[in-house]
Amino acid sequence: MGIEEKLPAGVLLTSVEKLVNWSRKSSVWGATFGLACCAIEMMAAGGPHYDMGRWGMEVFRASPRQADLMIVAGRVSQKMAPVLRQIYDQMAEPRWVISMGVCASSGGMFNNYAIVQGVDHIVPVDMYLPGCPPRPEMLIDAVLKLREKIMYEPLGPNGRKMLQARQERGDVP
Ligand code: SF4
Repeated sequence: MGIEEKLPAGVLLTSVEKLVNWSRKSSVWGATFGLACCAIEMMAAGGPHYDMGRWGMEVFRASPRQADLMIVAGRVSQKMAPVLRQIYDQMAEPRWVISMGVCASSGGMFNNYAIVQGVDHIVPVDMYLPGCPPRPEMLIDAVLKLREKIMYEPLGPNGRKMLQARQERGDVP
């Protein structure tokens, strides 16, 4: 009898999924760019006082091809929107997006024609972070919650949709 017949269905696959997700969540590297004042808090989060390196995030990558995480730190102008989308498209899958601050999430106080009223019009967002600006601790908290989410994400091209379905069923937080 082969090992596949001895093991309950799905056991081996689940273990591989957990291992892959553990390695993904343990080295989430952010793309290096900031759009406005929120970026100052993002930089502080990466500095020695807050030290995001404690969670495998000590490097922000200048090349989007080496980054897994886009932190949209600040308001997105209409002129910047296509550039932001291009950077997102250049990032390898799987990739995640944190919308940092009210301006990135909804336009905030900039309710005018020049600013995109929510970056989710341009790229899919995994985590919204309130505040003006959010403190570095809040960004770190968002990253830790994102890491939890990554742990539950099924592998494969439809992983995100499957995770959403699991969340709607209440199987995962
Ligand atoms: Fe600046 Fe506040 Fe907007 Fe962040 S949320 S970009 S700190 S105005």
